[in-house]
Amino acid sequence: MAAGRLMTPSPLIERDVDLSTRTTLALPGHAARFAEINSADQLRSLADDRYTPRFVLGGGSNLVLTGDFDGLMLHMAMRGRERVGDDAGAWYVRAGAGENWHDFVLWTLAQGWPGLENLSLIPGTVGAAPIQNIGAYGLEVAERFHSLSACDMRSGEFVRFDREACRFGYRDSVFKQEGWHVDGRFVITEVTFRLPKAWTPLACYADVASELDARGIAAPDAQQVAAAIIAVRQRKLPDPAQLPNAGSFFHNPIVDAATADRLRATHPGLPCYAQPDGRVKLAAGWLIEQAGWKGRNLGTAGMYEKQALVLVNRGGATGADVLELMQAVQRDVHAGFGVALTPEPIFP
Ligand code: NAP
Repeated sequence: MAAGRLMTPSPLIERDVDLSTRTTLALPGHAARFAEINSADQLRSLADDRYTPRFVLGGGSNLVLTGDFDGLMLHMAMRGRERVGDDAGAWYVRAGAGENWHDFVLWTLAQGWPGLENLSLIPGTVGAAPIQNIGAYGLEVAERFHSLSACDMRSGEFVRFDREACRFGYRDSVFKQEGWHVDGRFVITEVTFRLPKAWTPLACYADVASELDARGIAAPDAQQVAAAIIAVRQRKLPDPAQLPNAGSFFHNPIVDAATADRLRATHPGLPCYAQPDGRVKLAAGWLIEQAGWKGRNLGTAGMYEKQALVLVNRGGATGADVLELMQAVQRDVHAGFGVALTPEPIFP
């Protein structure tokens, strides 16, 4: 029975599990050992050096498999979502790490708790969201984050991380800074969000503003913002079920102001976004397009024709093919602009 299964502390550990269907780039690879985690107790039972190396898999949407993984892959499947409280300023909502991110966003909106709508349709799980501080259309998850719980796999203790402890940055957090997203030291089990009661729409990105405009909506509610963003994303980004991909493949580079001025002098169309610290964010997709890679393939991998920032598997690509394409794009962007592109996905 389901209740009995949940009480079982040790999860089933499968051997030699095919990972190609568990990642959205659909690259070949096997895990020597694989366990699906449905409860905190199951996770704690694996907090033992015998189970290293380990790697934590969520939705598999930000992962490049470059071969087999000779360790234990933990598939975080912990579910559950609930309102845990509210105060004058906000609702507090908690979700299990294995909840699908987009389903969770839609659920919060249906409950009447706005705040996450700009992050609609981002692939992946709730547990993965804080790790790279997912962001879209002018909002980062850090702005709606309250706290999270994670298991320290060295001690088996559960540790609470508040916003400060997470050290959020642009698509960055302490989990990446310390390499825990690769070595699986801390495994996130649940995340609590703070959704503000005083809500105003955030439609500063041109694509969102023009989609709302086209729909004749001047003062959108949160569900209307979500619907506009879903429409924009569906138009621009490939569905992994149809064309395997890992979303944005490179970070937007952030350069100093002098470098941005120099580049703008020779490339007047260069999109530049001033950062609070005086540096300037460049659009990686624009640089890749200018370098001639939009819609271009190298063997069985390519850069997507509608959004050059997305690397796609055209069918049968391997991790080595993806690496070759990644390096060719990095080389050409560097040759054209002197700017280094760093990949966003994780290479276990
Ligand atoms: P876009 O609208 O074509 O814009 C290209 C880049 O310019 C974006 O990456 C964005 O930076 C930046 N940008 C555009 N308007 C801006 C503004 N008003 N202020 C500051 N920066 C601006 O971008 P896109 O590729 O279609 O993606 C749309 C949004 O979805 C972006 O925010 C992107 O980051 C997000 N997205 C996130 C993920 C993820 O978290 N894994 C995956 C796919 C797309 P930013 O990226 O910093 O916003």
